[in-house]
Formats: sequence, structure tokens, C-alpha cells
Amino acid sequence: MRRIARLLTVVFLFGILVGCGVSEPTMAEHVFFAMDTIVTLRLSYEKSDGTRRSTEKMEQLFMQAEAQVGEIERALSRTVADSDTARLNADEAGLSSPGAQFVDVLSRALEIAEQTDGAFSPTLGMLTTLWNVNGGGPVPTDASRLYAMAHTDYHTLTIEADRVTKSDSRVQVDLGGIAKGYAVESLCAWLEEQGIARGIVSLGGNVGVFGEKTDGSLYKIGITDPRDSDAVMGYVYIAGGTVSVSGDYERYFEEDGVRYHHILDPETGCPADSGLSSVAVLSSDGALADALSTALFVMGTSEALAYYEAHPGTFEAVLITTDKEIVLTRGLRYNEDFIPSGGGYTLSSITEELS
Ligand code: AMP
Ligand code: MG
Repeated sequence: MRRIARLLTVVFLFGILVGCGVSEPTMAEHVFFAMDTIVTLRLSYEKSDGTRRSTEKMEQLFMQAEAQVGEIERALSRTVADSDTARLNADEAGLSSPGAQFVDVLSRALEIAEQTDGAFSPTLGMLTTLWNVNGGGPVPTDASRLYAMAHTDYHTLTIEADRVTKSDSRVQVDLGGIAKGYAVESLCAWLEEQGIARGIVSLGGNVGVFGEKTDGSLYKIGITDPRDSDAVMGYVYIAGGTVSVSGDYERYFEEDGVRYHHILDPETGCPADSGLSSVAVLSSDGALADALSTALFVMGTSEALAYYEAHPGTFEAVLITTDKEIVLTRGLRYNEDFIPSGGGYTLSSITEELS
């Protein structure tokens, strides 16, 4: 069974004000389905110059935003027949004249693959197809898994001036671990350019925010309890940027009582079993936040914290272990930047040592 769980909740405290002398809504909301998930836009009627947009203009903007996400999906999705990803996957040698968005995302994905020593890999297509998590499995045989693993080396891709080449004709690109964060980041930037004073874009476990709130407070983002996806296990507070979550409860199937989720460890070719059940990454770079939430999930706590130390100032993270411990990176203060909300989670001693 395919599942799409809620990973992040946006707590929207400055929403629709009616009564108390305020008759007009301050924010408009638009929800649609794209990139295999639910997209929610919440945008201020107020423009950055202080004037107000009409309802008709807001609706136009929503349609344009929807078209932008559609364009990203048509460029990056491996299931859209003539996307750059699908064309690259179908051709044994590579792809000529790739689109700018595809090159942008693929080059960032390859860079992050290098930095994370392959924990994040944009070339796991053969493995993700084999596991068929969205289609409910089944668990592949060892032989088929080993065969697929032999064709997942991201080093086989090279981006040239007007071409992407592959030295392994079977390698298959899957940008599912970075595309949504990229879409959130692009959309926030575009909406800001359109003069929207503030807004929130939420797209399948990635939430981007921009613009200062009217009361100057931070945006409050709820992180879903990985063991109860109807509950929030804590809140992070951000002024801007993106929060991306990767969790083992997001997409999975069960076989013989075992849960097989969608985040694969490139080293084993199996769902990552690193002791983490969920990872939230906060960054001003949405594509990075998305890719790193996947990568840190694969790494596990100690490797993820070492990676954090080696990349100062680029992101913060909340790691949630399968033992219900919460580990925060040093830049996040417990009870200030991260506020727990129950569910039996405790702060891990690792965090206390670090803070
Ligand atoms: P996310 O939900 O952002 O963690 O992304 C998970 C999706 O990224 C999966 O559904 C796969 O399409 C792909 N994926 C799975 N494992 C990895 C990995 N180790 N590196 C990069 N992408 C992955
Ligand atoms: Mg991701």
C-alpha cells in the first residue's frame, strides 16, 4: 500500500483574522497535488511594498506557482516520459541539451553525493525501482539487489557543456531525495520576486518560509512523531529557509512483519538501518536541506554529527533515534529552537555533551 504521511506541520498563527474589527483575510491558501505529494501555499495578500493584492491577482499567482511546480516536475521526474531524467535514463550514452533546471539539480546532487561520501546518491534508480516501495515491494532477492547495486555509482555521470554523459549505460538517475526541496526553494524565491511580503510553501516533508511575520516572531514548524504520524513530537523555529524531513514512516511496505522504508543505504542496497527514525534539516538552501535529510538518515547519529562538525554554518539538524532519543546539532537549543511536545522522546546525552 502506498502511503504518504505528513512529515511537517506548519503552525500558522497569523492566518485568517475575522472579527475584532479585521474583516479581510491576511493570508490566502492554495492546495494542489504535484510531484507525487500534496503542495500547500500560504501567501500574504500584502505585498512587500505594503499594498494589498486583490483576490483575483492572488488566484492568478497561485496558478502561476502551480505551473512552476509542474515545470520542475516535468524536468526532473523519472516517471514523466520525456523529462530530462527519463531521457537520460533511457539513453545508453547520455543526454544532449539538458534543461537548465535539470543541470542545476543534478550538479548539486552530485556535489552533495561527493560531500556525503555517497550516503546521498542521485543514481540509485535501479535500486529504488527494484525495491518498489511505493508499489508495496516485494523484498528483492539478494542476486537482483547485488546486480542493481553494481549500477548505482554516481561517479559514472559527468556534466559537460551541453551534455550529461554516463560511463555505465545502465545507471539510472533518481532525484527523489532532492527535487522537492529544490522545488520549495525555487518557489519561495519566485514568490518573493513577485513581491509577496511573506509566505509558506509546504511540499511533501519540505517546508520553506520567506518574509518577516507581521509580529516579528519566528515561523513555528511541527515535526511529525515518527511513531505516530498524527502527532507532532516537537517544534522548530525558523526566520527563513527550509526545513526538510526524511522519515522511515513516510513511505514503506511491510512483509512478514518487517517494515521496509524508502530511504536506501547505497552501501547495503537495503532500507537504511542506522538507528534513526527521522531526520529534520534546517538550511537556507532548500535543495541541500532535502538531500541532507536523506544523507544524515543513512549515516546515523555519530556520522551525521561528524558531518555537521565538518560543514559549519550550512545547516542544523534534529535527529530522532529509533530508541526515541532526540539529538540536536549544536546550533539548536533545546526548549528554544526546538520545543518538545511529548510522545515519550528524551534528549540524548550526546546532545548535552555537545551543547
Ligand atoms: P526523502 O524523502 O527526501 O528522504 O527522499 C527519499 C527518496 O529519495 C526515495 O523515495 C528515493 O527516490 C530517493 N532515495 C532513497 N535513498 C536515497 C539515498 N541514499 N540518496 C539519494 N536519494 C535516495
Ligand atoms: Mg530528502
